[in-house]
Amino acid sequence: MSKWRPKTNQVRGGLERSPFGETAEAMYLTSGYVYETAEDAAAIFKGDLDGYIYSRYGNPTVSLFEERLRLLDGSEACRAAASGMAAVFAALACNLESGDRVVASRSLFGSTLAVLGTLLPRWGIDTQLVDGRDLDAWEAALATPTKMVFLETPSNPLLEIIDIAAVVERAHAVGAMVIVDNVFATPVLQRPLELGADVVVYSTTKHLDGQGRTMGGAVLGSLEFIDGPLKEFQRHTGPTMSPFNAWILAKSLETLDLRVTRQSTTAAELAGFIESRPGVLKTQYPTADSHPQAELARRQMSLGGSMVAVELGGGRMAAFRFMNALQLFDISNNLGDAKSLATHPATTTHSRLTPEERAAVGISDGFVRLSIGLEDVEDLKEDLDQALGG
Ligand SMILES: *Cc1c(COP(=O)(O)O)cnc(C)c1O
Repeated sequence: MSKWRPKTNQVRGGLERSPFGETAEAMYLTSGYVYETAEDAAAIFKGDLDGYIYSRYGNPTVSLFEERLRLLDGSEACRAAASGMAAVFAALACNLESGDRVVASRSLFGSTLAVLGTLLPRWGIDTQLVDGRDLDAWEAALATPTKMVFLETPSNPLLEIIDIAAVVERAHAVGAMVIVDNVFATPVLQRPLELGADVVVYSTTKHLDGQGRTMGGAVLGSLEFIDGPLKEFQRHTGPTMSPFNAWILAKSLETLDLRVTRQSTTAAELAGFIESRPGVLKTQYPTADSHPQAELARRQMSLGGSMVAVELGGGRMAAFRFMNALQLFDISNNLGDAKSLATHPATTTHSRLTPEERAAVGISDGFVRLSIGLEDVEDLKEDLDQALGG
């Protein structure tokens, strides 16, 4: 528990000044540590004395970032990782063994699908994918013994919403542990642990950095899980966050709330602006009235987030024409950046899926994903307006 509210914690959380009394957080670029005496070294290794041993295990700057993010999510513990996928993989692999089963929502980040569908089966761990919006489908899948549940909401790239509390209730009823990928919402808009989830994972590469500079990830949950199986798995397999990236990310967290709130209000306005344009078949924005799950999105999230999904009539040709005509938006597969970005998932982030798999999750050739940045909303409107043919 913290004595401060989240907006204070994102600026002050985890700050431990060095004897120099610096205002901004110090950065400790060190791989190793020294000890006063051989006895101290022995005691620290034995766990009788607190202290850092080696930066694969822990580092003061990485600890600063972990503590700051932990306070934002309201979890007992947090462990940073080298990338979002290192966090996703460690959260699953540290707790699974041959013969175990996972149930996951079908609309997932591409590499998460590859881990669940291709890599884990090699070690005898199978995953059943369900339509995350369909609570009966979750219940049916959970009727077979299940160790872990994995879901992403809002989902990438279609912004479907999954009822976290309802899935948690069904998973816990059969003793399964629930992991939520909270990348699209960030801790500013959605707090899955408060809705009952056991573990939250982030790609800090996205909004948490917010300026497209670093790769990173984080896993949050109970002290028992994070300091138990997760730490054991991570410290020996090595996907450690670098202290340099941790420092950038800790400083980024100071403005997370401001950035994500602004990006969300701009995104909501732009989604409404393009919705009724000729040539636009459909837009999907979590809290917009036109979203089939708007009510759930408003209940579970404080704002709709920075992503807008747009489906253009005219397939891939229309999507490419639109993207190439954009002058302010950049074409990129990244998201959560200060700069607005446009992605064509069918030929980039989700190009490795078969056409049937893409159809099953609803990614058509005319579909474009927009990540809204921090530019002036009027400039973004003008750019969308001219790219959609004035
Ligand atoms: C980017 C992303 C990941 C993976 O993160 P990396 O930092 O690229 O490894 C996982 N889940 C979601 C929803 C993402 O957007």
